[in-house]
Amino acid sequence: MLALAIVEIVTPLINLFFTAKILDALLDAEQRKYIFSLAILTVFINLVCVLLRHGLDQMRTYFRAKIAQESDNTVAEKFTSISYELMENPQTRGNYVKYHNYDMWYGGVFMVVEHFFTMVQEGGGLLVSGGLILRLFSLAAVGGRGGLLGFFDSPFASMLLLAVFFTSIVINFRADADSASAGLAYEKSMESKNRKFSYYAFELPNDYHFGKDIRLYHIAELLNDELDTFFQASHLQRAGYTQNVIKNDSFSIAATTFSIGFSYIFIVMKAILGTITTGAIVMYMGIAANFSSGISRFNAVISELHLCSQMILPFRNIINLSSPTEQGCLPLQKSTEAQYEVEFRHVIFRYPGADTPVLKDISFKIAKGQHLAVVGLNGSGKTTMIKLLCRLYDPNEGEILINGRDIRSYNLQDYLALLAVVFQDFQLFSFSVGQNVAVDRNYDPKRVWQCLAQAGIEERVRSMPHGLETILYSFLDAGGIEISGGEAQKLAIARALYKDAPIIILDEPTASLDPLSENEIYTHLNEMITGKTAVFISHRLSSCRFCDEILVVDEGRIAQRGSHDALLAEESGLYFKMWQTQASYYK
Ligand code: ADP
Repeated sequence: MLALAIVEIVTPLINLFFTAKILDALLDAEQRKYIFSLAILTVFINLVCVLLRHGLDQMRTYFRAKIAQESDNTVAEKFTSISYELMENPQTRGNYVKYHNYDMWYGGVFMVVEHFFTMVQEGGGLLVSGGLILRLFSLAAVGGRGGLLGFFDSPFASMLLLAVFFTSIVINFRADADSASAGLAYEKSMESKNRKFSYYAFELPNDYHFGKDIRLYHIAELLNDELDTFFQASHLQRAGYTQNVIKNDSFSIAATTFSIGFSYIFIVMKAILGTITTGAIVMYMGIAANFSSGISRFNAVISELHLCSQMILPFRNIINLSSPTEQGCLPLQKSTEAQYEVEFRHVIFRYPGADTPVLKDISFKIAKGQHLAVVGLNGSGKTTMIKLLCRLYDPNEGEILINGRDIRSYNLQDYLALLAVVFQDFQLFSFSVGQNVAVDRNYDPKRVWQCLAQAGIEERVRSMPHGLETILYSFLDAGGIEISGGEAQKLAIARALYKDAPIIILDEPTASLDPLSENEIYTHLNEMITGKTAVFISHRLSSCRFCDEILVVDEGRIAQRGSHDALLAEESGLYFKMWQTQASYYK
């Protein structure tokens, strides 16, 4: 880009120089014989410059795409590596949307590089043409002229020209600075509105998972209303900003035109006085026009650079995010056997920004190889306990221990390798079935089939057009297949089984399954988790009976703990009430 800037600066000057030389040669009989060679040389130098410019421009396009891809990639990597808590933070997600919006509207990170070099180019051009123009000021006076010619022969005219250029610089600078701050103010005022616009205009209409509800509840109307509100606010703000830019541009254009006009008069007067040749008139006029318009372009590019460097702040904020998931250096050897005892000790947790804690002094132990069921009403904090165990969040007070040591003291990756979790809101990805289960490109098909069989979905996958190679969902592949909620849940269970982790956690593992599939899963489950420590969250109390112990959570506290029979014996307890209510439907 530096080379491109130099070529851009030099090309017009070379042309001006040779045009002046050719004109002078035309007017001078002795020099006339050189005209042909001068013309050939001009054409040749132009050809070289054009080719150079074209080549360098192509390189710029190439690097522009490369930088855009790399910045997107850096942001994606950041977002998959930062802690879950940080990713969930609205400010972090706001930065993500702003990054993409600015990328789309301002050209992204590369524009800072581009504007920087345009500034170098314009600045260089200004220095060169300014240096050449200085020669105009050093022309010797002819003397003996009165009136207007006498004025232009005096140093006052040169001082006036200098003052005109200076005034033009100041006006241009102030106008562009004002436009830039109006631009920034406009972007700031649109920040939260743009976030909503992205959600309503891109995210919702594009994701077919929303399609059913959008159609059945006529959400399109609600979306249109929201978008109308956005457009009205946006047009209003944009109109104000545009007025400001038009006003400022008018000032700079007037100042630039005036300075070019005055410099032309100055040059013509100098030619009439005989201090410069006819050829030099063309050259100086070109240089003066370059200089005056260069001032305007230089100021404009500084404002653009300033604006763009503000626009990449979200990108900078994202790349500066550090993952605060605290981790220790204690290594953990993953063993598939039940060698792990889990303990929650006086755990208190409130979500970031929330006033009240969701978990209020939770303490319990899961012995090595124990199978624990966790039950409770909606919102009592069951899933939150699992999130804490998975280190998606850390307790505000108290600690969670594995084999007597705080889980924060272990190496994070070693620790996470111990856990196989199926969340209630698990996600599968638009990869092949095999890759979804193994979470690896290179997987062991035999083991994948085995896990699919245990999760009760082997037959279904065998009937898919490409077996394990079948792509899930049609986001990326027109041949991708859609699966039901229950089938997806079985695949998620197969994924947890493939991980073969010693601690298995299932949050509502059969919520989407039909009674036969549920029965099949539970028949296999005992064999799947034998020798492992396991935690089940379930609302179907009958399915908890095969667990060694049941924990009843109520409003963030452990309300009861014991075997199914022992809990049923406590008739005043929540478990009894829940059981009676559920059982009444089956009687
Ligand atoms: P359960 O699994 O028992 O149904 P959860 O543990 O999912 O309940 O949620 C407990 C409470 O925590 C709920 O009231 C919910 O609104 C709140 N909650 C869950 N996730 C978040 C979050 N990411 N930020 C703030 N509050 C949350």
